[in-house]
Amino acid sequence: MRIVLLGGPGSGKGTQGRLLSEEHGVPAISTGDILRAEIAAGAPLGMRAREYMSGGSLVPDDVVLGVMEKRLAQPDMGRGFILDGFPRSIPQAEGLDRILKKMGLALDAVVKLHLEKKTLIERLTSRWTCPACATVYNRISSPPRVAGICDRCGASLVQRDDDQPDTVRRRLNVYEMMTAPLIDFYDASGLLVIVDGDGTVAEVAERIARSLEERRRRN
Ligand code: AMP
Repeated sequence: MRIVLLGGPGSGKGTQGRLLSEEHGVPAISTGDILRAEIAAGAPLGMRAREYMSGGSLVPDDVVLGVMEKRLAQPDMGRGFILDGFPRSIPQAEGLDRILKKMGLALDAVVKLHLEKKTLIERLTSRWTCPACATVYNRISSPPRVAGICDRCGASLVQRDDDQPDTVRRRLNVYEMMTAPLIDFYDASGLLVIVDGDGTVAEVAERIARSLEERRRRN
């Protein structure tokens, strides 16, 4: 299974990507998580990425494509992958096509999680993340059992720098300008599946599973 998850920041790509990964036994790759790990390690790539990320802009396409070309060549990708947050621009989508073609592979589907802008803002500004295992919580809709502590690994939860209101607005504008055009791009290649991203994690997961199953039966 080779899937791209598309959707605005806060649409649930990370959470649904992890569920799909567990269900299908393929890795979920988040470019945001890879870049944050590079920053935490103090790596040169992370230092370059940080200035873009903290302001809510996209990291340059050549940097992200370089990271992803390496990641996609790792042996754990053999049975497939779930991509969360990549591609995020037309040049990245074209780059991904080139990389996959070179490997003799193709995408199975692109799942777009649809949510209204107002809901995305509410979700992002009430989001808390585990810095150790990347589990995401929401202060209102899915709080941890003990306030401020990750249910899965016990680490203290943090609010991401780029989930502050001003940066959230900028990230949404960047999404509309740079990433939303991918909806038409993937629709034209017949890969697009649009799923309503509103509701509980389980409800959205069920909708994704049903849509992918319907698509599999049609093709
Ligand atoms: P995310 O964790 O997916 O919300 O990504 C956080 C930030 O990482 C984004 O706001 C961008 O600054 C950067 N980033 C993640 N993925 C990409 C990508 N595919 N292209 C460019 N920048 C990215």
